[in-house]
Amino acid sequence: MKPTKNSTLEVISPKVHVDDEFIVTDYEYQTSHVKRTAAGQLQVHPRTTSLKIRTARHVPKLGVMLVGWGGNNGSTLTAALEANRRQLQWRKKTGMQQANWFGSITQASTVFVGSDETGTDVYVPMKELLPMAEPNDIIVDGWDISGQHLGDAMRRAEVLDVALQDQLYEQLSALKPRPSIYDPDFIAANQLDRADNLIKGTKLEQYEQVRRDIRDFKQRSGVETVIVLWTANTERFSNVLPGLNTTSQELQASLKANKTEISPSTIFAMASIAEGCTYINGSPQNTFVPGLIELAEEQRVFIAGDDFKSGQTKIKSVLVDFLVGAGIKPVSIVSYNHLGNNDGKNLSAPQQFRSKEISKSNVVDDMVASNSLLYRPNEHPDHVVVIKYVPYVGDSKRAMDEYTSEIMMGGHNTLVIHNTCEDSLLATPLILDLVILAELSARIQLRSAEKELAPWVPFKPVLSLLSYLCKAPLVPSGSQVVNSLFRQRAAIENILRGCIGLAPISHLSLEQRFD
Ligand code: NAD
Repeated sequence: MKPTKNSTLEVISPKVHVDDEFIVTDYEYQTSHVKRTAAGQLQVHPRTTSLKIRTARHVPKLGVMLVGWGGNNGSTLTAALEANRRQLQWRKKTGMQQANWFGSITQASTVFVGSDETGTDVYVPMKELLPMAEPNDIIVDGWDISGQHLGDAMRRAEVLDVALQDQLYEQLSALKPRPSIYDPDFIAANQLDRADNLIKGTKLEQYEQVRRDIRDFKQRSGVETVIVLWTANTERFSNVLPGLNTTSQELQASLKANKTEISPSTIFAMASIAEGCTYINGSPQNTFVPGLIELAEEQRVFIAGDDFKSGQTKIKSVLVDFLVGAGIKPVSIVSYNHLGNNDGKNLSAPQQFRSKEISKSNVVDDMVASNSLLYRPNEHPDHVVVIKYVPYVGDSKRAMDEYTSEIMMGGHNTLVIHNTCEDSLLATPLILDLVILAELSARIQLRSAEKELAPWVPFKPVLSLLSYLCKAPLVPSGSQVVNSLFRQRAAIENILRGCIGLAPISHLSLEQRFD
């Protein structure tokens, strides 16, 4: 079985069946269930469940609607799609540069598939494991409170090399963001001067307009699936109150009653769910109030978030995992950032900074909780996050992190990391991965192989598989949040492998370790 038309990979297994519609695999799912006895012992019960996993082979024509299309991320994604589609090259002072998707796991990373007869590891591009949307085929549309067309938005962002911008300007100038919902109570007051492209009316009327926009895009572009993704400015947190937004009914009633506490991002998410479109939140605010999550669950529409995990937090979710896993005890983590783009300007307001601070602060919790030899219950490292707006550095974000850990015999180890990086060039590939993996997730289902006629079930509406790409992962109620980047990536790889009948990567390599 060849998972995709152009794949170099072919799986030869009696457990994989392919027809015109589906790739179906017989899968033995092995887990361990732990019981605590009254005497404090842990009883571990290994379990094996026989499943069938199926993946629909038809990749729908994918449309992506960005909220905040004219921002640094939105304009950079649009430019990058076009530059890659046209395979553009441009001159830098160091030589010729070609368009690429570095930083995208689906487009620029590989997955271990096994060892060949010489014992050499063999890898294939992740995108060859299963049929996935091709970036070149994705059509982008969206909304922005700033009416600048995408050519000017790209120039305003000051992210891409000028020689590349010049090749893209004319084409991007034809793209204009749809008017959007502006509520000065939710984003920083300093954004007022760009708010010239607005949907007027009550919250219900704004919601209806967003729904019409989604339908209009679908109809004009001919896309089969639309994913809506928030890459607009960070909002302040909404209050969560009984009677306002704690159930789907309350939320819908509050929308109709034009309650001020319903944020623009929640209105977008409600409209997206009503249109059956997956909604992804790339910013830290609590768009997904409990009533919104209930709405997604009732309508069985995917939601995922929160906040792209691009730079500093990605390192944190690697480094703390390594330290705690090595038996070293991080006791103080201090993260300082400065940046000069419009995101930084918005985050210089206290309430919007608070959203980011919350999003960045819980990232080490699961790793700390995993090691009771190092940490007492509820003991945490000191963890402080500072963000400052320094206009001169523009999109070139500086992140300085100091990790102090206790090592053997009361000794200390201090690691200091200084990271300078174009912020939007890290975030943009994540947007691509989020939409490609979210679309793929909609085509994967499983069922028990132990019961005749067991129904096929999809992923739960809260799509935790995208946690790898999110700073503050949203997970279904009753599930544990996983921040560790290695665990998050392993989940993606192993689920994709399961879809083509390959066992999870165990790194046992028994054939190489034993005679
Ligand atoms: P940006 O300020 O350049 O772009 C945001 C855009 O959203 C602007 O064009 C603005 O006009 C628009 N906007 C604001 N409110 C809107 C609304 N209600 N409807 C439609 N458009 C609206 O910011 P950016 O650098 O592109 O980042 C976007 C978001 O992604 C921010 O919230 C940021 O915190 C988040 N984020 C970025 C990174 C990263 O770039 N590395 C990482 C994690 C999260």
